[in-house]
Amino acid sequence: MIIPNVSKLSDEQLKEVTDIVGSFGCKIQVIYGEMQCIYAIIGDERNDDMITKIEGLPYVNRVDRIQSPHKLMDVRSSLASHRIKMGGVTLGQSLFVCAGPCTIDPKNPNLTIETAHAIKEAGANALRGGVWKPRTNPYSYQGDAKALNILMEAGRATGLPVDTEVMDEEHLRLALDAGVHCLQVGARNALNYSLLRQIGQAIVNRDVAVLLKRSIHMGPTQEFIAAAEYIVQLGNPNVILCPRGTQPALDGYRNHPDESIVPLLKERTWAPVVVDPSHSVGRAAYVPAAALAAIAYGADGLCIEANVSPSKGIGDDPKQAVTPDVLKKIITQARQLWDIRRS
Ligand code: PEP
Ligand code: MN
Repeated sequence: MIIPNVSKLSDEQLKEVTDIVGSFGCKIQVIYGEMQCIYAIIGDERNDDMITKIEGLPYVNRVDRIQSPHKLMDVRSSLASHRIKMGGVTLGQSLFVCAGPCTIDPKNPNLTIETAHAIKEAGANALRGGVWKPRTNPYSYQGDAKALNILMEAGRATGLPVDTEVMDEEHLRLALDAGVHCLQVGARNALNYSLLRQIGQAIVNRDVAVLLKRSIHMGPTQEFIAAAEYIVQLGNPNVILCPRGTQPALDGYRNHPDESIVPLLKERTWAPVVVDPSHSVGRAAYVPAAALAAIAYGADGLCIEANVSPSKGIGDDPKQAVTPDVLKKIITQARQLWDIRRS
């Protein structure tokens, strides 16, 4: 990884570096950090002659050689100083909360609009809502592109950035064209490497972030971080990791809360971690405890399903959405816990 002593290489400098690594069978991938671009060497970067040549260039500060399957996401990477901003919050600096319905009902736009205002009032920084849904049952409601207009309208009406899940290239194109701020990769697609690559490619040079859920089929922590590397290696470093529960070992929970992964992630990667306590437990009554546990474990934020009228919602809302008053209490207590954690 090449760290220049300028914020961005000129075209001539980039060509010079590209020619050097090219003569050793490698390529350059530009990563657009907020303050500075860094230049990943793609290929076998262990060749000392290549590194020495690059280090000799007057505009190069240093070349980092991190031997890691996720060298850009690694906590030792120069991207570690990169900060993701959303909804007026710099992730990692203060609590970030994304909230909203599981699924946006295209037949009831008011429910989403009212919910958006209520979650903003409760203190949320971003609005979530499913336009297209990955459903286990093929006969369940699968989503509707019309819901995208409702989500965007709710975002505009409240001034909140919006997050929605995309499952294929068509969703990705529609979501980006509509101006979605955060693309969610769901637990079912977190191991879909071609989708991760398509997203990574589509968001280069765009002010868009990705909320990457943890798949229930992911084992070692590395596997989760490596999935994020698939996106980041294409040029946009705005990836947020989202643990959301794994296979239940106890009867009673829809999933088994996995917020204890947070400190393990923090040891290995600089990426912000925003826990989803709603899918982690699957019942509204257990969400506050799961949310606070996540903050106690060091999470940077929460992604919570909320609805002004959970029983009128579709998808997971009747079971697991909290009401705005509960959300407000969670946010207040999570902020207190955040302060305790910092003290
Ligand atoms: C969701 O966020 O509504 C969702 C389907 O999440 P997950 O991919 O974590 O199941
Ligand atoms: Mn859901």
